[in-house]
Amino acid sequence: MLNGTDLLIVGAGFYGATLAERIATRLGRRVLVIDRRAHIGGNAYTEPDPATGAEIHRYGPHLFHTSNREVWDYLQLFTRFSSYRHRAFSSYRDQVYSLPINLATICQFFGRRLSPDQARAMIVEQAAELGDRPPANLEEKAISLVGRPLYEAFIKGYTAKQWQTDPRELPPQIIARLPVRYTFEDGYFNDRFQGQPLDGYTAIFEKMLAHPLIETRTGVDFFDIKGSLPENMPIAYTGAIDRYFDYAEGDLGWRTIDIELEHLDTPDYQGTAIMNFADEAVPYTRIVEFRHFNPERELSSDKTLIGREFSRFARRGDEPYYPIDTRADQQIYERYQARARSQEKNIHFGGRLGTYRYLDMHQAIGAALKAFETVFVPYFEGRSETVSVRGRLS
Ligand code: FAD
Ligand code: UDP
Repeated sequence: MLNGTDLLIVGAGFYGATLAERIATRLGRRVLVIDRRAHIGGNAYTEPDPATGAEIHRYGPHLFHTSNREVWDYLQLFTRFSSYRHRAFSSYRDQVYSLPINLATICQFFGRRLSPDQARAMIVEQAAELGDRPPANLEEKAISLVGRPLYEAFIKGYTAKQWQTDPRELPPQIIARLPVRYTFEDGYFNDRFQGQPLDGYTAIFEKMLAHPLIETRTGVDFFDIKGSLPENMPIAYTGAIDRYFDYAEGDLGWRTIDIELEHLDTPDYQGTAIMNFADEAVPYTRIVEFRHFNPERELSSDKTLIGREFSRFARRGDEPYYPIDTRADQQIYERYQARARSQEKNIHFGGRLGTYRYLDMHQAIGAALKAFETVFVPYFEGRSETVSVRGRLS
């Protein structure tokens, strides 16, 4: 399997596939990509649903958005994008509101027409309880952004279901991902480039990995072949970092999602791709209706496919989705980083699982493009002796 291989890449998600493609295409090196799953694409894997023709996002809905021109241009080599711009909604006490929180949400929630200045002044007043302190956790950050009443309606219950962790223990960055707007602009993302790949996400990976110098083996777990690898074989590892070190410094906290798929005998169940459920009494966080991601496709007119998402703590062996990243997790991760820096092996840790960071697709691709230039080009051109990262893993 490893004959003539210049680099072993563990994981056929966006990080691993980008590295493989660049190293084969630009450096003419031979790469072996393995993935323990039965397919390529990592968490971005999609496949058409035979019953409706809709693209199923097997590991949860994936929406492409970026302001990084390099990443956007790079992806044009492998796919065309539709003009889909994501809009989302939140169901709260039997009403439907626009997300992310914008002027329409604020006016509807408080039952008044407010100008941008009036709305801003009201939220500043509602956030005054925090004083001048910078927000130290998710709850404080959310209150600083939208005030307590909107926090309690749209964020508190949803976050309790999504994380099952005290919001005062969660890092503020989780909520800082969401924009808050004092205009009626209701697109979910601010990014300049947005869209869905016309042939689904998996087709991107098929093209990326089609290079003759790339061999891809699915259904192969790194830990089953680790013992038989040649000494000092260069490895790019995008699996979980705690698993790599056999959990010696403790288990990192992750959330995972169970998606309950259901076919329904209606052409359109909810009129939009994603409906969030803010009420804590509703057991799922959101419902995805896949057909709405591809309005350009002609799909079955008598059936639709929906997925209800239930979030829970990941145990060993589950697919880890969201790093929880409490202070305790950060300390554990620091210890794994120290191990990664000091060990002898010629190994690069990358991607979401390898660096314990919630990376969006464009960030995973951007990080792989950067690692290609700063780590792998110098290594294969003989200007560096190792692919191991010496500083902070990124
Ligand atoms: P992954 O895609 O996780 O790939 C890592 C691969 O390594 C996996 O295929 C895994 O099977 C393999 N692997 C692990 N251990 C081993 C082993 N021991 N041996 C062999 N193989 C192994 N991003 C967006 O931009 N927009 C979104 O809307 C969005 N929505 C998301 C929704 C959900 C529910 C989730 C979970 C993620 C979402 N993301 C989204 C993030 C996106 O999935 C990631 O950015 C992307 O998958 C990161 O790529 P990666 O290569 O780092 O990791
Ligand atoms: N969030 C919320 N209510 C919502 C949507 C999001 O409280 O209706 C919070 C929640 O804590 C979530 C975070 O904002 O984890 C980030 O939301 P995003 O939509 O980016 O979630 P993801 O795509 O990561 O599932």
